Amino acid sequence: MNNLHIAFIGAGNMAASLIGGLLAKGMPATHIHASEPSAERRDQLERDLGIHTHTDNAAACADADVVLLAVKPQIMREVCLALAPALKPGQLVISIAAGINCASLQQWLGHLPVVRCMPNTPALLQQGISGLYAAAQVSEIQRQQAAAILDAVGSSVWVPQEQLLDAVTAVSGSGPAYFFLLIEAMTEAGVRLGLDADTATELARQTALGAAQMACQSDVDVATLRARVTSPQGTTDAAIRSFEADGFRPMVERALQAAADRSAGLA
Ligand code: NAD
Repeated sequence: MNNLHIAFIGAGNMAASLIGGLLAKGMPATHIHASEPSAERRDQLERDLGIHTHTDNAAACADADVVLLAVKPQIMREVCLALAPALKPGQLVISIAAGINCASLQQWLGHLPVVRCMPNTPALLQQGISGLYAAAQVSEIQRQQAAAILDAVGSSVWVPQEQLLDAVTAVSGSGPAYFFLLIEAMTEAGVRLGLDADTATELARQTALGAAQMACQSDVDVATLRARVTSPQGTTDAAIRSFEADGFRPMVERALQAAADRSAGLA
């Protein structure tokens, strides 16, 4: 992967996370170009990360094997139409924009090898997970390149059909906020039980972190982990029974369906 040359079109938060991850994985800064209208942002990227920056999107792509589109969805059409004449047939285009499908990207770019990807915000800490979908024209090597780039900020999974990116958006794209909500609710409940706010926050946050690490590192599934800490008639059992009686699972299912429907509606 470190032989690749990558051009970022738009160098905001997500692009900066990816660039940071790629540099941390050993990619030479000289292999990374980024185009960005903000002079302040360009100066910061050159100074802090040592990459090449450009004001012209086409110039950034000149020597790139991979062009990564990281602008907001609202301006994607205009950016793609302007970029189209500068693209070369062998280049892979990756889009991280929510809700813009491969057919639109291919039409605007006049370019076929396109990978769509849905990252999430823990990418900022190199703890993200991305769902990826490749158009039919993407080669096996290009699939490996796309996965390696996204894996620089965490991990990735491929989905076999494009519409499954709506499900990815519902589970992992929007997912960090669900866990923030649970931490918020547990903190508020802890305060109502008599803890001061700082103590309740610390207990809820660290419990979420510890549970996530156990879920990721254990050989057994989360249902088994839960059963192991739920003695019959014990305190955890009382809480889990209360959650189930209040319809916790159907509530989660409805929420994720709402997110997936919204994602499908953006396309
Ligand atoms: P951002 O606003 O931080 O970055 C976008 C950058 O594009 C800005 O720096 C802006 O100056 C630059 N830009 C504006 N016009 C441009 C142009 N014509 N040419 C080149 N660059 C231009 O946004 P972000 O949060 O980094 O999101 C970027 C993309 O990533 C979006 O499409 C978003 O849907 C997707 N995404 C973001 C997240 C997230 O959690 N932030 C998650 C998944 C997907």
